Amino acid sequence: GSRPQSMSLVSQCGDEQVSGEYNKHYVTLKQIGKGAYGCVKMAYRRSDRLLTVAKFILKEKVGAQFWVDAPDGRRVPLELSLLLTLKHPNIVSVIDVFENEKYFQMVMEKHGAGMDLFEFIERRPRLDEPLLSYIFRQIGQAVEYLHSLNILHRDIKDENVIIDNKFHVKLIDFGSATFMSKDTLFSTFYGTTEYCSPEVLAGNKYAGPELEMWSMGITLYVLTFFVNPFSDIEDTIQGPLAFPQVVSEDLEQLLRWMLCKEPASRCSISQLMAHPWIRQPVVIANYVFHEIVDCDRHEANPEMYYSGSLGSPRSGSPVSLADPMVKERSNPSEVA
Ligand code: ADP
Ligand code: MG
Ligand code: MG
Repeated sequence: GSRPQSMSLVSQCGDEQVSGEYNKHYVTLKQIGKGAYGCVKMAYRRSDRLLTVAKFILKEKVGAQFWVDAPDGRRVPLELSLLLTLKHPNIVSVIDVFENEKYFQMVMEKHGAGMDLFEFIERRPRLDEPLLSYIFRQIGQAVEYLHSLNILHRDIKDENVIIDNKFHVKLIDFGSATFMSKDTLFSTFYGTTEYCSPEVLAGNKYAGPELEMWSMGITLYVLTFFVNPFSDIEDTIQGPLAFPQVVSEDLEQLLRWMLCKEPASRCSISQLMAHPWIRQPVVIANYVFHEIVDCDRHEANPEMYYSGSLGSPRSGSPVSLADPMVKERSNPSEVA
């Protein structure tokens, strides 16, 4: 699928991004992603050539409510402050932070070959349910951890999850995240419309966890069927949940529960993590990454190859470009 950009939000990448102290420590390589709040590029550390991923956050694009005071008194984007504080095996970690006049330069660990679940899905992986459960439960573990700290991610979707060749996944992109409290309701949605719950699309205020469970439900549905469950806002609010293929009873029940239109009856994170489909046994050592998903040598074994400079022909059958069911990347937007 193509990757549509919401018009005014796209920022241009240039030399201004890398200038300053950051540039003394890192060499910036090719761009790997381009989204709402800036650019993401591969970069290696000059001292030891450690390959990393650098996200350049344009200060003027960070909304007023997304700034916090760091312990040293500086104003920093919440996205950055959260990722510096959080420590979890399923959340990306930050290695270094720099800033210049216009940008924050956030250097992150490079997890695997840098494949996100959008690209993973685009390659039509041959997943069975135990493997799907293994992948999805790790997102659940990250969200359980976040909610226990009263943090809402608010932009959970395939492209904000990265996967390595051991099927280990990590949550990224805390650009829409916020703190929640029991007695405060939100009235603005900052995530991605396709992943937004019906009650929030209908204009209701929200507490948070129930919205996050819906986004996770969409993510699980997309991982299962490679298509979005709903075609537009109206369909999300009104449309029935259809199942394009037969899945196990447990998975169907879980999807219906996570994508329940009524927020009060929707599956909670603790109910999700206790669900038999999530807790089913899986022997992950039995799955070989390049047998499940078509990929090139460096994606199958990134630790053996260096920064993509080696020519790497694809193994297996090439990914079809003319796919009838195009699923598009979509950017976060505000829904008032
Ligand atoms: P945006 O806020 O613009 O969406 P993200 O933080 O989601 O930016 O990064 C954009 C894309 O870059 C992601 O969808 C993913 O493909 C890639 N990416 C970001 N961080 C990493 C990382 N640490 N490792 C590998 N890929 C990453
Ligand atoms: Mg993103
Ligand atoms: Mg973002």
